[in-house]
Amino acid sequence: MSPTASTKDFRVAIIGGGMCGLACAVGLAKRGIASDVFEAAPKFDEVGAGVGIGPNALRALKGIGVLDAVLARLDRDDRTARRMLYLSGTGAHEEVYDYNNSSEFTDADTGLGMYRPAFLDALLPLMDPKTAHFNKRCTSIETLDTGDYRLHFADGTTHDAGLVIGADGIKSTSRNAVVGERKVLQFTNTVAYRGLVPRDTLLQDGLKSDLSQRVHNFVGIDKHIIVFPIQSGKIINIVAFSTDNSVPPGSVAVAGPWVQSVPQQELLDTYAGWGPDAQLLLKYMKTPSKWFIHTLTPLDTFVCGRIALVGDAAHGMTPHLGSGVGQGFEDVFVLCQLLGHPTTTKANLEEVLKAYDTIRQPRANMVLRESFRAGVIYESYGKLGYGLGEMGGHLARIWEPIWRHDLDGDVAAAIESLKER
Ligand SMILES: Cc1cc2nc3c(=O)[nH]c(=O)nc-3n(C[C@H](O)[C@H](O)[C@H](O)COP(=O)(O)OP(=O)(O)OC[C@H]3O[C@@H](n4cnc5c(N)ncnc54)[C@H](O)[C@@H]3O)c2cc1C
Repeated sequence: MSPTASTKDFRVAIIGGGMCGLACAVGLAKRGIASDVFEAAPKFDEVGAGVGIGPNALRALKGIGVLDAVLARLDRDDRTARRMLYLSGTGAHEEVYDYNNSSEFTDADTGLGMYRPAFLDALLPLMDPKTAHFNKRCTSIETLDTGDYRLHFADGTTHDAGLVIGADGIKSTSRNAVVGERKVLQFTNTVAYRGLVPRDTLLQDGLKSDLSQRVHNFVGIDKHIIVFPIQSGKIINIVAFSTDNSVPPGSVAVAGPWVQSVPQQELLDTYAGWGPDAQLLLKYMKTPSKWFIHTLTPLDTFVCGRIALVGDAAHGMTPHLGSGVGQGFEDVFVLCQLLGHPTTTKANLEEVLKAYDTIRQPRANMVLRESFRAGVIYESYGKLGYGLGEMGGHLARIWEPIWRHDLDGDVAAAIESLKER
């Protein structure tokens, strides 16, 4: 349970109760640090879709102290190799590239695919309900003469805190307090159609690809479809991407909501001419949701004074390497370790947050850039793009720097340098 009294001489306000905000609240509570979570929605909620969690993200969850609770909510078989198999989207789905051939893998490179709401089911019992505040849309953060902060909410109320963690997602308001109101968010011209389909249904209708274990990526010009199993392979999570490359990224502003329900026909028309397994997957996405994929231009810093950004608020990125939330979990792990250190007090919080920034900003922005690059590669297979055998050279080892990074080492080095100061 999250403590309402703190072992520290400061109290934390977390803006946003998505996967990263909740992980932060529980991770801090495990270190005896009190926090309040202010969520704009009337309850904690997650989209009913799958999410891929890489090996680095699993290590971060372990370090935060929530991995066992998460694993307890999953089927045993969900812990599978996340290494992608690339197939051609059109024709007979010939193998384009097998990421398994890219490197020597060990058990430490294992990740998982999970149903997003299962994450909430795992974490909510670990939180003190008194610390969760709903219908609290933060509109601005005011710096007080004391150096503390006053959060202003849309309902006219306020809350004061010594440390603010902005976990309010890619459309973050708290980000304005860190980088100002300059334009840092852009539409990538890519939309993603998402859906879940029972694997049995696909098999009965003649699915040829074995989707029970690995992540599959059907690639083509301006389009790709990423597919992976969740719930022990009973359910197949589908994300079908399509990009308008006739205009540069960032040149179009999305006027309506960023997530819309669309008729299935739009999806079928988009992938007309694709191969049989691709068509089968789309055939059973009866009520697809369409997501307008945005990315941040990399921020120079994730902190200002005693305000720190985590998750998509800091580095909202394209989902092409399945690493967005994993980078958020790494943020939370590093922040929890630094804030929970015995020498951390209100007096040195700014130094501590600078250490957080030094570790996290370069690495998360590297993943952001690589994710964008991966999307461009995926959607360059076929006529006028890469031929068979060419794509692998661009994708080989693309995940290794993400999956195999020594974050414990980063934290230990940061603590040493803080001690010296
Ligand atoms: C199609 C798609 C597929 C993806 N697949 C993967 C994947 O396989 N693996 C992976 O690692 N990542 C994936 N991602 C990225 C991943 O979903 C995000 O990185 C992750 O959800 C971000 O979590 P967060 O907690 O930072 O933000 P969010 O999940 O956006 O949560 C932010 C919370 O803050 C609240 N909020 C917003 N504004 C305010 C405010 N002003 N005041 C108070 N509360 C506020 C919101 O209501 C919300 O609850 C994918 C993304 C997309 C779009």
